[in-house]
Amino acid sequence: MAFLEIKGLEKEYKDFTLSLSMAIEEGEFISIIGPSGSGKSTMLSVIAGMLPPDRGQILLSGDDITGRRIQDRGIGMVFQDIALFPSMNVKKNIQAGMKEKDRKKRNELTERLLELVGLPGYGKRAISSLSGGEAQRVALARSIAAEPRILLLDEPLSSLDAPLRKHLRAAIRMIHDSLGMTMLYVTHDREEAFAVSDRIAIMHDGRIEAIGTAEELYRKPCNLFTAFFTGEGTAIPASVLSEGASGTLFFRPENAQIADSDADSSSFPRHMIFRNAEIVSAEFTGDGYTLGLDWNGFQILARSIIRPRKKDVSVIILKE
Ligand code: ADP
Repeated sequence: MAFLEIKGLEKEYKDFTLSLSMAIEEGEFISIIGPSGSGKSTMLSVIAGMLPPDRGQILLSGDDITGRRIQDRGIGMVFQDIALFPSMNVKKNIQAGMKEKDRKKRNELTERLLELVGLPGYGKRAISSLSGGEAQRVALARSIAAEPRILLLDEPLSSLDAPLRKHLRAAIRMIHDSLGMTMLYVTHDREEAFAVSDRIAIMHDGRIEAIGTAEELYRKPCNLFTAFFTGEGTAIPASVLSEGASGTLFFRPENAQIADSDADSSSFPRHMIFRNAEIVSAEFTGDGYTLGLDWNGFQILARSIIRPRKKDVSVIILKE
């Protein structure tokens, strides 16, 4: 039995239906990514109990919590918009939802949480004196202090600048690891999801299009949506390559290398080769170049360590 089981869950709006089934193990860190409007926030709101589903069930450790009140579900939530109590200091905010009654223990736990979020000694600070990033970390500490069975995070870092986001995503993962807490983390940032997750669910039009580790989704995407949502690549209809064939050939730029236009294909017996391709762009990426090529009207992306001198080349697809 999975820790969190979502079975046939549906939420209908006029032009949108969320349709969800998934199982999450205890202690997993799952990221939910997908385009805007794909249903990520709706999914979290239904799990948290803020929105009633039209159909389906949510089971937590086997208990059906579908109809249970928000406060009785044992689920915590951190939003992008921070809802700290402005009249209370940092310590009081963190202790607001704490179950622990003993004062000494409450203070110890508060200090430990402040250390975990990188704000040691901040307990007496007024909320108004905090920067956006600090307030976000206090909100995180407060949610953890309530000891939820699952913590849902809805784009908690999206209002912050890039270096702080990077720092805090690592802090969230560290907190996850040190407390063994199950987390569901919504982000629109693929790189962020790749960096912190055990598994990633890709949402599209209210459904989970794919779920797996970052490596599985990137290396072996089960459909084109997943392929392009997890990174760059080239898709060419198989019928173009072989008459009557169906499906699509997809490959990543790093699996496509260029060679001389008259390269002897027999020296690459396991590889596919596209001859007479023309390099139309070369973008420097630090560790080399991403090349845009035109092959019979199809755009191909390839990688090269050096800037190629010739325009007419062959493209060799390396099989993994
Ligand atoms: P995401 O978080 O992935 O951006 P949302 O869950 O916010 O997506 O929204 C999913 C879809 O549901 C969108 O098309 C949105 O317009 C629609 N939606 C969300 N809330 C409501 C509502 N209260 N009434 C009608 N449609 C809604």
